[in-house]
Amino acid sequence: MTKTIERIPLLPYSLDAPRQLVVHRYGQPGARPKAYLHGSLHADEVPAMLVLHHLVRLLDEADRAGAIKGEIIVVPMANPIGTSQVINSRHVGRYELSGGGNFNRNWPDLFVGLADRVRDRLSNDAARNVTVIRGAMLAELEARTAGSEFASLRLALLRLAVDADVALDCHCDSESLLHLFLVPAHWPTAADLSAEIGSRATLLSEESGGQAFDETLSTPWTRLAQAIPDKPIPAACLSATIEYRGQAEVGDEWAEPDARALFRFFQRRGLVAGDPGPLPPPQCEGTRLDACDVVRTPAAGIVAYKQPLGAAVTAGTVIAEIVDPTAEDPRAARTPVRTVADGLLLARRSDKLVRPGDSLAKVVGTKTLPSRTGHLLED
Ligand SMILES: [Zn+2]
Repeated sequence: MTKTIERIPLLPYSLDAPRQLVVHRYGQPGARPKAYLHGSLHADEVPAMLVLHHLVRLLDEADRAGAIKGEIIVVPMANPIGTSQVINSRHVGRYELSGGGNFNRNWPDLFVGLADRVRDRLSNDAARNVTVIRGAMLAELEARTAGSEFASLRLALLRLAVDADVALDCHCDSESLLHLFLVPAHWPTAADLSAEIGSRATLLSEESGGQAFDETLSTPWTRLAQAIPDKPIPAACLSATIEYRGQAEVGDEWAEPDARALFRFFQRRGLVAGDPGPLPPPQCEGTRLDACDVVRTPAAGIVAYKQPLGAAVTAGTVIAEIVDPTAEDPRAARTPVRTVADGLLLARRSDKLVRPGDSLAKVVGTKTLPSRTGHLLED
């Protein structure tokens, strides 16, 4: 057995005992490849924690059989701050209530200063460069201190993940089909991940503008390769965000097969011994995130959807009508909201009372949309 459990205390928010991260570690420390996974950084996106609960069970079995070949780190509950946030009996886990903002935005930019720290130590040996760069990023994170509980959470998760070959940030959407976010440098090399997990949309962007956790790990490599073009610098961290459907789809009937798919991906990538069988046929191609229409409401009211999840829609299709229940004439109470993309209706919202500007849907198109520049995420 190689498994160990580590408990990492966060900086205490109050005089109470500190909250802690529970970390499941498999394989010999330093073994390659290394995979890192965590669940529900947005703490109200509960399907991800159940998937990783099942994955831990599968990895425990593999470990007992001596089948762990690389190093695997799993943090099933990545956000003990957010899991404890309850207002009037309702769990709220997307933003830190004490003022830290969206839990998956504004992660530290690990590219800052990196080129200067490694430039003189790089050679024409790509594998050696990867080791040097990982070491420099780890050393920089080890030297940092955190000034708040949320900052200590960010730092602890980054220290576990930054030198991984594969880092998977497991979330879910509001009401949604399963999908995946990647930087384009990992497409189509990550087509095996996309097919194995059954992604219905694999969305690619160099930088979404939100400095999400996955990008904080992947973009230092692509930006370093641009900054130092005369040295071979591969995109050495396949970092991705997986959206495990919608918030209500929490159950073993989804989570257990989802965990098995991750396990087969690890077998395919040499992290775990054994034959994963043939790769399932892909359910999507990689498409650009700036071709994905985020449909927003211009009006306040009640959302009445006109299209189901998974519908094939075209530009001009009415996705929903926004109903004003206070209108004197019900015939004038409805505002149609249309998509500007041709494609798959990937996601809708579960909260049906909306304010102007709220996101109603995502439609996965293939053609870059002029409206989609700058910040590409929903919020
Ligand atoms: Zn999320």
